[in-house]
Amino acid sequence: NGSLEVYNEFLKQLESSGIEHLIKIELKKESSDAVLVSSSGCQGFCQMGPLVTIEPDGIMYVQVGKDDVKNVVERTLMGNEVIEELLYTDLSSGKKCKGTEDINFYKRQKRFVLGNCGRINPEDIYEYIASDGYKAARRAILEMTDAQICQEILRSGLRGRGGGGFPTGKKWELTRQSVSDIKYVICNGDEGDPGAFMDRSIMEGNPHSVIEGMMIAAKAIGASKGYVYVRMEYPLAVKRLRIAVQQARELGLLGLNIFDSGFDFDIEIMEGAGAFVCGEETALMASIEGNRGMPNPKPPFPAESGLFGKPTLINNVETLSSVPKIILNGPDYFSSIGTDNSPGTKTFALTGNVVNTGLIEVPFGTTLREIIFEIGGGVVNDNGEIDPDAFKAVQIGGPSGGCLVEEHLDLPLDFDSLGKVGAMVGSGGLVVMNKSTCMVQMARFFMQFTQNESCGKCVLCREGTKQMLALLDDIMEGRATYETISLLEELAGAVNKGSLCGLGKTAPNPVLSTLHYFRDEYYAHVEQKR
Ligand code: SF4
Repeated sequence: NGSLEVYNEFLKQLESSGIEHLIKIELKKESSDAVLVSSSGCQGFCQMGPLVTIEPDGIMYVQVGKDDVKNVVERTLMGNEVIEELLYTDLSSGKKCKGTEDINFYKRQKRFVLGNCGRINPEDIYEYIASDGYKAARRAILEMTDAQICQEILRSGLRGRGGGGFPTGKKWELTRQSVSDIKYVICNGDEGDPGAFMDRSIMEGNPHSVIEGMMIAAKAIGASKGYVYVRMEYPLAVKRLRIAVQQARELGLLGLNIFDSGFDFDIEIMEGAGAFVCGEETALMASIEGNRGMPNPKPPFPAESGLFGKPTLINNVETLSSVPKIILNGPDYFSSIGTDNSPGTKTFALTGNVVNTGLIEVPFGTTLREIIFEIGGGVVNDNGEIDPDAFKAVQIGGPSGGCLVEEHLDLPLDFDSLGKVGAMVGSGGLVVMNKSTCMVQMARFFMQFTQNESCGKCVLCREGTKQMLALLDDIMEGRATYETISLLEELAGAVNKGSLCGLGKTAPNPVLSTLHYFRDEYYAHVEQKR
């Protein structure tokens, strides 16, 4: 909030101070002392915005208001002074932090995918190119065979970041081997979990990385057409993707005969109408085809028969955005980060009762304790004060996920370890809850969400979630007995078994995991002690 005002004020103040300034990189200028005023995507530290970073000095000012700008221009840009009052104060030590390398929120992160978010102007292709952008696509298209690209991705160990964790290279290889006159690449940008905004930040902050990832994927499987499916509730992401596609076309990076290689590939941006179920790949394809966005049974899998009945590769935003760096740095570099079975990094949207909320990226294997207490700065009580004993649980993976509790704080987070304790990485939502959170109410919130979003195709998802919600209401409103809880559990199992797609299958997870860890709270409601 207020970032655009701050940006415009910088232009005004620089103008009136007579300081030469640019709003875009000017390639023809050999050297210049001009100040480049660049608006960027999200830097992740949401709570402290608007943020102003001054490079190459490595200064980060937080919560900058319009009235601070004159000061920054005169004291920092003209006087080389660091303004203490605008620096971030570490709450535990009281120390002022000059830049990201001093701030705990950033220190523990590894910004592999998010590296350029908040650093470059997403509406200027030259800033992306200046950061090695499109180098990987050039290498893949001009120097590598389709099979070699699939092999590199397979060797890197990259797994789908949309929730399933399926090996990306395997998916690419299966689609590559399908024989067809036409193939498609789809980027799934239909992020819909409450509290999750990882893909949105990438599309808004570094849209060219998504396009470059799609170009490499297209070359690998032999596709000539790509779609980015993005929800219309993300208007800034839609705008920036459209600008990025247009700029790439103007430079001959999309369209016919890319890099004079004979390879043709172009991308269309499709806006979804905000149905959560359209994040499911068969529903998403139905929506692109102009049909109602409802899931279909698999097989056939999209790799054999997907969009318009043709072989189709679908990956999510974060997965595709990782690809250029894997091609550029090599698969071994990527697999050296994270854990053996879950290489690389994962972005998470950290929200709830925690000091620092925002968008973070950590290597797989990082523990919840590191995320909540070091990056997140600790848990806060209802008065907003840091309280070391206030942690109760964290909901991971949104409405499809489950809750993790104190005993899981030192569990290294990866696809497999979370699966073993009944949770899932999901798309990456992390909602931290303090001791006063009612876990039954939390489970009800997610049940209400999935019930609203059920497409209605399967009886057990359509009616089962409705009945589960009614049972949760009975429990919350003092009309339940112990049998209500047994019925709720029984119904949860039936909804899981009788649903066609992931939405229905995972809808009972928040109820089941809260019943597992916080059954006493359900009993307390029945006994009307809450
Ligand atoms: Fe639709 Fe639910 Fe069936 Fe999925 S499980 S197809 S959302 S009714």
